[in-house]
Amino acid sequence: MEPKEGAAHAEAPPRGDDQRHAIDARERETAGSPAVDRARLLALEESRARAEAAHREIVAVLDRITDGFFALDRDWRVTYANRRAEELLALAPGTLLGQHLWTRFPDSYDSVFGREYRRAMADMAPANFEARSVVVDRWFSVHAYPSPEGLSVYFQDVTEKRRAEEALRESERRYRSLFHDARDAIYITSSSGRFLDVNASMEALVGYSRAELLQMSAVSLYARPADLERFRREIEAHGSVHGFEVRLRRSDGSEIDCLLNSVVRLDADGRVAGYQGIIHDITDRKRAEESLRRDALHDPLTGLPNRALFMRRLERALERAARDPAYHFAVLFLDLDRFKVINDSLGHLAGDELLVGVARRLEASVRPGDTVARLGGDEFAILLFEIEEVEDADRIAERIHERLKEPHALAGQTVFTTASVGVALGSAEYERPEELLRDADTAMYRAKQLGGVQHQVFDHTMHAEAMALLRLETDLRRAVEEEEFDVFYQPIVSLDTGALVGLEALARWRHPTRGLVMPAEFIPLAEETGLIVPLGRWVLDAACRRMADWRARYPQARTLTLSVNVAAKQLAQRDLVEHIEELVRTLGLAGILRLEMTESALVANPEGAIAAFRRLRQAGVELCIDDFGTGYSSLSHLHRFPVDMLKIDRSFVERLGRDESNRQIVGAIVALAGALGIEAIAEGVETPQQRDELRALGSRTAQGFLFSPPLAATALEALLRESRPTA
Ligand code: C2E
Ligand code: MG
Ligand code: MG
Repeated sequence: MEPKEGAAHAEAPPRGDDQRHAIDARERETAGSPAVDRARLLALEESRARAEAAHREIVAVLDRITDGFFALDRDWRVTYANRRAEELLALAPGTLLGQHLWTRFPDSYDSVFGREYRRAMADMAPANFEARSVVVDRWFSVHAYPSPEGLSVYFQDVTEKRRAEEALRESERRYRSLFHDARDAIYITSSSGRFLDVNASMEALVGYSRAELLQMSAVSLYARPADLERFRREIEAHGSVHGFEVRLRRSDGSEIDCLLNSVVRLDADGRVAGYQGIIHDITDRKRAEESLRRDALHDPLTGLPNRALFMRRLERALERAARDPAYHFAVLFLDLDRFKVINDSLGHLAGDELLVGVARRLEASVRPGDTVARLGGDEFAILLFEIEEVEDADRIAERIHERLKEPHALAGQTVFTTASVGVALGSAEYERPEELLRDADTAMYRAKQLGGVQHQVFDHTMHAEAMALLRLETDLRRAVEEEEFDVFYQPIVSLDTGALVGLEALARWRHPTRGLVMPAEFIPLAEETGLIVPLGRWVLDAACRRMADWRARYPQARTLTLSVNVAAKQLAQRDLVEHIEELVRTLGLAGILRLEMTESALVANPEGAIAAFRRLRQAGVELCIDDFGTGYSSLSHLHRFPVDMLKIDRSFVERLGRDESNRQIVGAIVALAGALGIEAIAEGVETPQQRDELRALGSRTAQGFLFSPPLAATALEALLRESRPTA
């Protein structure tokens, strides 16, 4: 019940007996004549009856109202209490009347109730308050009105309302703390995007204070207009966005990557009132992702893009070429010349340093849009993303050679490096990036074959050659398995007597479709692929067995030596020496077998070669340096290696009679060999003049077409059968 109404009731509290006494007193004072007295008395009776009726009515009303009500006299005694009051105080009906308040409720005296009642009486001013009653453990809203007679008290049970308020306050408190203490940024905006509320994390996230933000629109925080457009599209379509990636610009201008969850706020009429959302800073996660991506796509040593990333960019260039015929690009494949030498001699750290240095120089040689990648080892690839003409690629290749030429300071040494570069021009003909890289690689291989320090532009003949080479390799592998080889024997003769003194075993390939294939076509490839190991072993075995057979059948064969060529890779085989010892022992070829090796093969592994030949010499096998004069610093090798003979290379023999200085060189080689007690055999003697010159220079043995080309075993056997023994 409202306090106003309560106050109106308080004006006329029915006061039963007191009032009646007052009326009686006045009646007594005004009493005069008996008639008048009687009339007055009647009137008084009547008014008393009326008052009593009114009193009953008021009590009835008070008993019906939902507020609790009681009246106290000045001595704090209850002079009236309605039923509701007793109900609210959990008392039996009629038990309150006449009670002394503080006696009945001693705990109330010092409670809010007691204090408020006493204050109201003392000040003669109403008291309005809410308090919890310890008597019944409920909340009451109380209005107490003092008067000279006492105090009228109305009270209502507001426990439920209080609890609801408390719950609301609690939820609000929780919400505030959720909002303000949240680690994620939270905001609420109007429909135009103006901030209406932001939490502390939001301030920290974007670097603006709350006051600043409340003057701003969320729109102004978007770093990329495209994000905003996407946001508007999605929120319009779905009413919310979840896990929306957005780039925001902070107050200091820096940009952060965020994840946004936002929903539309609708007003009571279902119209968009604004938005609210939570922003989570994912810049760190993004950075981690970025660095993961970098690791996956970059070479850790040089920081350059790796093959995977290069291929991706190359693919993009190819796609563009497919759309736009006027677009040109090129791929450069670059391989350092002699990198292995630097790595092996200066160590891997220096090698790494060189690669990093080269990477930086390559980057400096191209334009910003181009890609320099490290494919692995000492191989680099460059994508020239846009060129006008072939000459652009040429120019850049030239520039790279120039830059690389500058010395590198490595491990306290000055090192020079060069590279072989292959160029492939991009065209719509290529379907896959691998094909382009392959062709650039082929062109690089050609540049390397031509001696390095240059570049070659890929053309289709190169491709054809590369394909042919590949086919050859496949064929060769099969040939080695199927033993499609044959051994020819070239006679070595004495220049003094013209007699046959030895044979050189030379491999031939009986190709199923191409016929007899010469070593020049397959030996280099066999060496490169390692197929020379089984092939060389086969030739060695076949030649030794054949020789043993001839020696057994033809007396004139018994004086002949047998020369077999051995490649560097064969020497690296651990069991080669043992195998040869075994052959020599079982076939009785001690003092017969000679192994021919080129100088470069010996230098490839000098210690191994020296050790191997010392042992072989014990087994009666001699060492011959083949193609003498074409390799490195020949003379020193003659001292170091246990050499028994050398073969003067055909190129010197060929020039005899034409070139005087050449004649002197041949003379010097023969003299030197003589001084060292080494036999000098001349190779490739084709004319009688050459033979005579060699003889004049002191050479004692020779081989060449003049005497005989290499012969098949059957042809040589016929020769052996016819000729007489020379010794
Ligand atoms: P090489 O060991 O120097 O063999 C001599 C080469 O000169 C042979 O070539 C021979 O046919 C050729 N020749 C001989 N006399 C003359 C001549 O008067 N004029 C000309 N123009 N050439 C002459 P072939 O048989 O083609 O062998 C070439 C090279 O292949 C050999 O050179 C040798 O290095 C290598 N080779 C051959 N067979 C084998 C083998 O079984 N193992 C290894 N590792 N290499 C082999
Ligand atoms: Mg030879
Ligand atoms: Mg030779």
